[in-house]
Amino acid sequence: MRPTGKLHLGNLVGALQNWIELEDHYESFHFVADWHMLTTDYADTAELRSNVQEMVTDWLAAGLDPAKATFFIQSRLPEHAELHLLLSMVTPLGWLERVPSYKEQLENIRDRDLHMYGFLGYPVLQAADILMYKANAVPVGEDQVSHVELTREIARRFNGFYGAVFPEPQVLLTRAPRLPGTDGRKMSKSYNNAIYLSDPPEVVSKKLATMITDPARKRRTDKGNPDVCPVFDLHKVFSTAPHIDQVNRECRTAEIGCLDCKQILAGNINKGLEPIQKRRRPYERDPEKVWAILEEGTEKARKVAQETMREVRAAVKIDYSSAPTGANG
Ligand code: ADP
Repeated sequence: MRPTGKLHLGNLVGALQNWIELEDHYESFHFVADWHMLTTDYADTAELRSNVQEMVTDWLAAGLDPAKATFFIQSRLPEHAELHLLLSMVTPLGWLERVPSYKEQLENIRDRDLHMYGFLGYPVLQAADILMYKANAVPVGEDQVSHVELTREIARRFNGFYGAVFPEPQVLLTRAPRLPGTDGRKMSKSYNNAIYLSDPPEVVSKKLATMITDPARKRRTDKGNPDVCPVFDLHKVFSTAPHIDQVNRECRTAEIGCLDCKQILAGNINKGLEPIQKRRRPYERDPEKVWAILEEGTEKARKVAQETMREVRAAVKIDYSSAPTGANG
């Protein structure tokens, strides 16, 4: 995950909850993709350190467990850069130019110049991140599937030149609901419409009070339609079944108003956030705990990365230190 700072409810249901479940079934690696952040935010790195800390604090708060999985920081492992470079030698330009998110982001992100070498190559860096751990599976949403497919193609091509080094990773598709923010668009840090895992109860209530609802329901006496209401989308994720039934029924008959409905939702979201914020507190008080977890995980990951790179260098025959001496080598 790119270190963008505090995490919101969309990140929780779209990524973290899935990772937490996977930790019980797979040997997992979770990493802070700080180099990836530079591919788009190279001009603004002032907040990087605090963003890393806030994000990993939220991982721990959400319940990711460093005893079950390895947490690390990408840039602390130069092996990732080395593998990226070697993979870049065998990755045709056309493959990168065809990645759907590449064109899409070039067109949509207008406030920064993304015509950069690093930005075009970021799926190759992602391939290095995945292949370094010889990953069997990568948990991603729909939008990232093409990147994992590209990783498989790069692995196949590398293996074709240098021998079978890398397994081809499978996609573990996460079918998470796309959570709306308070303005009805996708909840996102960049839209200023997010409810954060660290928001206190009164902030959650206040944000929900401004959230848009069924636009046709203008007066308290108007009957509403939950099917088109983003507040109801949040109910479906965070409320209990009886509350969902109640809101669904009583909105349609105008028995309850939007404010009542939002209060019920605020109660349920706050109940869900309570254990998260409780787990968050010790790390907020003592951020060194977060850095120590990252440090320990980074050293664990380094062992794997070093081992993979020894094998990769030998396969590419670019490992002179251990080359046999003698007339014919
Ligand atoms: P943001 O849009 O706030 O910058 P990111 O793009 O960094 O969020 O997303 C990190 C992870 O959280 C990704 O796996 C993404 O699929 C998931 N995610 C982000 N926003 C949402 C959302 N509104 N609903 C569901 N999942 C989301």
